[in-house]
Amino acid sequence: MINLILFGKPGSGKGTQAEFVKKKYGLIHISTGDVFRYNISKQTELGVLAKSYMDKGDLVPDDVTIQMLEAEVNKTPNASGFIFDGFPRTTLQAEMLDEFLINKNLNISMTIALDVDDEILIDRLIFRGKDSGRADDQDKSKIKNRFEEYNKKTSTLINYYRSQNKFFEIDGTGEVSEISQRIFNVIDSNI
Ligand code: AMP
Repeated sequence: MINLILFGKPGSGKGTQAEFVKKKYGLIHISTGDVFRYNISKQTELGVLAKSYMDKGDLVPDDVTIQMLEAEVNKTPNASGFIFDGFPRTTLQAEMLDEFLINKNLNISMTIALDVDDEILIDRLIFRGKDSGRADDQDKSKIKNRFEEYNKKTSTLINYYRSQNKFFEIDGTGEVSEISQRIFNVIDSNI
């Protein structure tokens, strides 16, 4: 079983790469951002709550996010592994994920971070926002806030996983297929 975290700032390509990794290794892809957006489109209670944070570029509170993630994992009890995309984003989320997996006799195999400079990320997000209509991708101040949330709350996870020898960073720029290959190389040499 491979349980992989795809890690990186907004726009680093986690969602794009998750699709390739999912196909190659037969994993279930869980993007917490996608689950929130689905709930927003269905106007569920969770969606209404999440929207009030997402629209500003703030993180959704931990308790809500963790509960949702656990429910998503529990939907596929026979999965041969998961790709966590956009989760965890705080130390509490990482600790709760470890605890949740341990109770199932599972663990995180590795965290692969996509490294991309901020200027490239901003260009990518603005470009994506035009296409997708995502409010949080279209406004520079919201993008900036998402980077600040990352720096304040998420970047500490680098040390969390590094101290467990589970953190690997790759260059997240270049051709999409080149980046996939870098990810495959990390996975293949660490499973
Ligand atoms: P993403 O699609 O991963 O860029 O996420 C879009 C937005 O969803 C984020 O800016 C947060 O508001 C929210 N979100 C997604 N994942 C999480 C998470 N693990 N913790 C808190 N908020 C999240």
